[in-house]
Amino acid sequence: MDIINLLKEGVEYKNFCRLLENNKLSHAYLISSPDEEYNKNFCKLLALKLNCGALCMCCGNCLKILNDTHPDVLNYPKNKNFVVDDAKAIIEEINVLPMISNYKIFIINNFNKATTQAQNKLLKSIEEPPKNVLFFINATTLETILPTVKSRTQKITLSTFEKASLIKLLKEKDGLVNENALIEGEGWPGLTLKYNENQNFLKNCKFVEDLLENLKSSKDIIKYSAQFSNKEGFEERLNILENSFDKILLNIVNGEEKDYSKESIALIFEKINEAKKQFLANCNLNLIADCLLLGILEVKYICK
Ligand SMILES: [Zn+2]
Repeated sequence: MDIINLLKEGVEYKNFCRLLENNKLSHAYLISSPDEEYNKNFCKLLALKLNCGALCMCCGNCLKILNDTHPDVLNYPKNKNFVVDDAKAIIEEINVLPMISNYKIFIINNFNKATTQAQNKLLKSIEEPPKNVLFFINATTLETILPTVKSRTQKITLSTFEKASLIKLLKEKDGLVNENALIEGEGWPGLTLKYNENQNFLKNCKFVEDLLENLKSSKDIIKYSAQFSNKEGFEERLNILENSFDKILLNIVNGEEKDYSKESIALIFEKINEAKKQFLANCNLNLIADCLLLGILEVKYICK
């Protein structure tokens, strides 16, 4: 079983099939969950369903979609984040009729990382696309998505899976089941798979979790910085840290967060971005980690 097979069992997919049967599809969907792989594969599954009702996974349509080479199922962004050039490419492509399929499908991954300008540029396309054009836009958080995008799309909020289904997924995919991966994955299939495959990732998650909980004074910085600045996994720790603050931001919105304010998270994101830039510029890792942790500590106390 791979992740797409699992997603077929999900309630959101079944709802989509019902809409399709009743000819009630919208032209633009905004699909969200904190799990990037889940989001991407869910969009892929919808494209598969529209192109091969039987989901055979072995016909030309299915194989091309699975390999991201289908001429009528186009994936964005072309580089890391969705930018104005991606929106321009879509605007150019949108009126070109599908070549082998009945639908022209635009899948946009990680739209939460799209720039404001790029989101604005896309508005008209998602509002009134030509007939048989469909947008499957996914995001790990809706916080950074413009209200104008939200109002022009149908929302699908993906839900978690039962432990038994996830165990089956891990067993058949990796052959082994790491109990910690199930705990850390919190029911999200893509995350659970990722944790199961990558023990180091799991270790880094634990480290960041511990750091966020126990970084309380400048004395703690020395302790955490030494471990943080290890070259192995440095970038991964930065990404995990960023994701952790994404989650905290979500808690703030839901009124469940006491340590940080929305403004303080924005400042921390700035500091994380700065650290990423310095990392790419080959700066001293110890210095980067020191500055970052000190920055987080400052923000935490100043903004309180
Ligand atoms: Zn097929």
